[in-house]
Amino acid sequence: MNQAVRPRIAASACPHDCPSTCALEVEVFGNNAIGRVRGAEDNAYTAGVICAKVARYAERVHHPDRLKYPLRRTGAKGSGQFAPISWDDALDLVAEKFIRAEQAHGSEAVWSYLYAGTMGYVMRDGIHRLRHAKKYSGFFSTICVNPAWTGFIAGTGLLAGADPREMAKSDLVVIWGTNAVNTQVNVMTHATRARKERGGKIVAVDVYMNGTMRQADLPVLIRPGTDGALACAVMHCLFRDDKADWDYLDRYTDAPRELAEHLRTRDPQWASRITGAPVETIEAFAWLVGENKRAYFRLGYGFSRSRNGAINMHAASCIAAVTGAWRYEGGGAFHNNGAIFHLNSSLIEGSELRDPSIRMLDQSRIGAILTGDEDALRGGPPVTAMLIQNTNPVSVAPDQETVKRGFARADLFVCVHEQFMTDTAKMADVVLPATMFVEHDDFYSAGGSQYLLLGPKLIEPPGECRSNHEVICGLAKRLGAEHPGFAMTPRELIDATLQKSGWGTLAQLEAKRWIDCQPDFATAHYLNGFAYPDGKFRFKPDWPTVPFKRWHRTHASPSIPSLPDHWEVIEEADTEHPFRLATSPARGFLNSSFTETPTSMARERRPEVMIHPDDAAALAVTDGEEVRLGNRRGAVRLHAKFFEGVRRGVLIAESLWPNSAYADGRGINTLTGADPVAPFGGAAFHDNKVWLRKLVS
Ligand code: SF4
Repeated sequence: MNQAVRPRIAASACPHDCPSTCALEVEVFGNNAIGRVRGAEDNAYTAGVICAKVARYAERVHHPDRLKYPLRRTGAKGSGQFAPISWDDALDLVAEKFIRAEQAHGSEAVWSYLYAGTMGYVMRDGIHRLRHAKKYSGFFSTICVNPAWTGFIAGTGLLAGADPREMAKSDLVVIWGTNAVNTQVNVMTHATRARKERGGKIVAVDVYMNGTMRQADLPVLIRPGTDGALACAVMHCLFRDDKADWDYLDRYTDAPRELAEHLRTRDPQWASRITGAPVETIEAFAWLVGENKRAYFRLGYGFSRSRNGAINMHAASCIAAVTGAWRYEGGGAFHNNGAIFHLNSSLIEGSELRDPSIRMLDQSRIGAILTGDEDALRGGPPVTAMLIQNTNPVSVAPDQETVKRGFARADLFVCVHEQFMTDTAKMADVVLPATMFVEHDDFYSAGGSQYLLLGPKLIEPPGECRSNHEVICGLAKRLGAEHPGFAMTPRELIDATLQKSGWGTLAQLEAKRWIDCQPDFATAHYLNGFAYPDGKFRFKPDWPTVPFKRWHRTHASPSIPSLPDHWEVIEEADTEHPFRLATSPARGFLNSSFTETPTSMARERRPEVMIHPDDAAALAVTDGEEVRLGNRRGAVRLHAKFFEGVRRGVLIAESLWPNSAYADGRGINTLTGADPVAPFGGAAFHDNKVWLRKLVS
């Protein structure tokens, strides 16, 4: 890269799995290099601010370890021994293996597996087109959103809320269960604007004193999985202190009197025993909510990654309905804007080809699926061939030991299309080099704001990297899969999808860089009624019929509480496992991305577990000492880090380090469980009981 040459500045969008989906300005040098990346100042949500890891994206794009050529495994699985192979030979081999798998066991023996390594519609979702056309096993996406989305929709009936930019107009911003400083910095931009410009207060609720908690006026530190109890106690105080808006409750909600009666026994003393938060803190939180009608509840994903996560999300979302905060600008609740974009993605996904008789396999249960668990396989054939794009399940999926056993199967053929030699790529038979977002055309929608954004191709990819779309189309040709989308370019797919969805054309999006899809105030605040037929917010949802619009398999339990509550289904600590472990996101990483960039690695240093010094003292563990964490799923080795900002008995392991960063190659997901979260599946990454022992005792 010749820094003496003046770059051109090109518009783009962040492709990563982060709710902000920032509007970017990228320095471009010629056809092959990028420089600094900045946030677009004139985008009302990004407002010129992006995280440090994307600002230094040139480190990823021009990383010497990028995969640049197709590879074929030559040694044992996982040995890391590969030899170069031509693209044609690689795709021929993958197609041949898929055809053989289909001939032996039927089309469901092939499983295409993806996730959110890119959030671009064309590159992320095109793999569905291939699987629909070929009737490969379906992909039941569960690893991230299901508990959170279900919990929010349970109340409102729709995955949408008050405009996130309204946080700047709030008198009280409640940042609940998301460490925005680490994971979506833009929330802090708007929340701190409320503080600076109108004296607004910030409350943060979390399980450790992270960066967001430290910036809050009132940090509410609780034990993992106890958010429902906190929400109930706050609502108890609001009813007790006559801060409930009864006019609003009677007009807009389903069972307010039943709720008030139910909450009589859920007082701050009750919640304090469950959450560990002092009674005075819970009272102070409730007082702030009661005194400030313009209270904005920014509800994150973190606290939903628990076996009672959906119920906790719903409970937290109920508070704004009790006070009628939805009536006011700067008030209400927000989790995600998934419902406002109404995209018709049929050309990308080939959804009209979907055969409903084909089984759906649960993404989070990949370990059980690959090791032949009958329930996980839904009574169908074994999976013997896989195509994996945009994800790294050997590192990120729960129940890692089982996942590894599955990938080690001699009769399983795996093709991984990736940017780096990840833990999953190391287990593959064929590894294909993938483009990064500045090397292909795509478009994005933001979960945490209201924009549709374009991310055009800005530079040529290095070596022989190909986009996901090219790989899918190359395989479709060899496999005889037919659909108009296979004959279209990414730009044609974007243009047609925008037009089918009523958002204009690609040329218009390119000229504007983004489209503001924010619904009007009354719609966003549900002033014309919530999205249930009777227009009422549900304090008492019928969980099995909550309108979570994705395909789902119900895990509804008769013991799900009908009204907000603390649901006692979490992995409680016991004598053998005296600690509760949360695997919260590290600032320098984004899931398993950025674990290769030098500045992120330098910042995060090594895998550590935060432990309260009093807990450490009881075990004679010293600060920095290497320890073992374990439970019935396995054990990992990492270093203890003394930290007073957790409740006693709680451990935090900021993640997600590659497995190879741990002394014995076992990553933190060795400890997490893959049992489905009620009611529609999910993974309880922050809900683990564990023991902690000295390495040599
Ligand atoms: S804050 Fe999130 S969306 Fe914005 S640049 Fe960073 S990772 Fe991307």
